[in-house]
Amino acid sequence: MAVQNSDPHGDRPVFRALSLPHLDALLARAGLDEQDRLRARAVAEVLPFRTNSYVVDELIDWEAAPDDPMYRLVFPQPDMLPRADVDRIAGMLRGGASADRLRADVHDIRLRLNPHPSGQLDLNAPRLDDGEPVQGMQHKYAETLLFFPRQGQTCHAYCSYCFRWPQFVGEPDLRMASGDAEALRSYVATHPEITSVLITGGDPLIMSSAVLARYIEPLLEVPHLESVRIGTKALSYWPHRFLTDPDADDLLRLFERVVASGRNLALMGHYSHPRELEPTAAQRALRRVQDSGAVVRCQAPLIRGVNDRAEDWAVLWRRLVAQGAVPYYMFVERDTGPQDYFAVPLARAHALFREAYAQVSGLARTVRGPIMSATPGKVQVDGVAEVAGRRAFVLHYVQARDPELVGRPFFAAYDPDARWLTDLKPLPGDGPLPGLG
Ligand SMILES: *Cc1c(COP(=O)(O)O)cnc(C)c1O
Ligand code: SF4
Repeated sequence: MAVQNSDPHGDRPVFRALSLPHLDALLARAGLDEQDRLRARAVAEVLPFRTNSYVVDELIDWEAAPDDPMYRLVFPQPDMLPRADVDRIAGMLRGGASADRLRADVHDIRLRLNPHPSGQLDLNAPRLDDGEPVQGMQHKYAETLLFFPRQGQTCHAYCSYCFRWPQFVGEPDLRMASGDAEALRSYVATHPEITSVLITGGDPLIMSSAVLARYIEPLLEVPHLESVRIGTKALSYWPHRFLTDPDADDLLRLFERVVASGRNLALMGHYSHPRELEPTAAQRALRRVQDSGAVVRCQAPLIRGVNDRAEDWAVLWRRLVAQGAVPYYMFVERDTGPQDYFAVPLARAHALFREAYAQVSGLARTVRGPIMSATPGKVQVDGVAEVAGRRAFVLHYVQARDPELVGRPFFAAYDPDARWLTDLKPLPGDGPLPGLG
């Protein structure tokens, strides 16, 4: 791997996005033949593709591509979508189909990819007193409000499996975001049960520090607010955001103001693979964020071909803890987009989680998983047991729309192929699964 961006005393690294126009050359560098390059480009017409010079130079092992996990994390795979769809779009690219026809077919394929799983749009949209839905917020769990700032709906690079993909592809009716900092403040101020605001995206740290401050600072006037969380992958995809970007120092000062106000500021760092912690820039960024008084908690989904080895997770959690961060969630890949391609069945996900968990000290056992963030709530698979002579999954809600469900164990019939809560069936004689009845 080249070391272009990691010299701490060299010129300030400048963010350079790489997108569709650069894709073919990068696919060729990974060793793909012409036909696979065309098929990968067809996938990138449907699902968003974006990477950057830091990811390409520092994180991907090009000797190992296209099988390298970091390559698979950001690049479209020729077989990621149903074969017939890929063939159709590839044929149109080869034949030079009109932009209109291409757009119509692409739209059609996207709609079949379950763009908004878990009823995100309807079920969780907060309402004002007059019943008008509030844009860009989700209030699913009483104590936590999710906010999607309009300027934060992109990322420094896109993950190939991303469940937020509809927000990146510019389909107007697939987007949901808000630019209204006052609506955010007043919604929180008038809901005393909200103690935590989670700012998410995309990646909110794609925004300038000044814009981010415009959303966060008014929140500090709300006395019942106890914590601010920022979901981000910038620590992995563009650590210079915290080091040498022109407003990096402003960002750290904003973090310090939140901490000084007596609140917990948590960066929910998305770390998929231990390699993301190797570059010195990544280590220095993590250190610098923590020096501001912010806590870094880490989470990622389990993705086939990217991080589906227990060893990867054990090393990841150990490295994170060594550098002061706190492992939080291991997620099950959501039921959207190219899920067929990346899914790891629940039984295997649990076995892998357990194997990794057994290899780390108690300091890393703050992590919970595997977790499905499903319509009724966040469900953890606790294991497989024998219940009245039958094999069963043991599960519980870590977080639920209905607080009554939280923390109570329940069972589902064991099924080695089940990949999501909705694939699970109750044990014979039991009523419906909690939250699904
Ligand atoms: C995960 C999640 C949260 C935060 O839940 P915690 O258990 O507090 O981490 C809030 N809202 C939604 C919709 C979530 O999926
Ligand atoms: S960083 Fe998060 S939001 Fe951005 S592409 Fe990856 S999974 Fe999606």
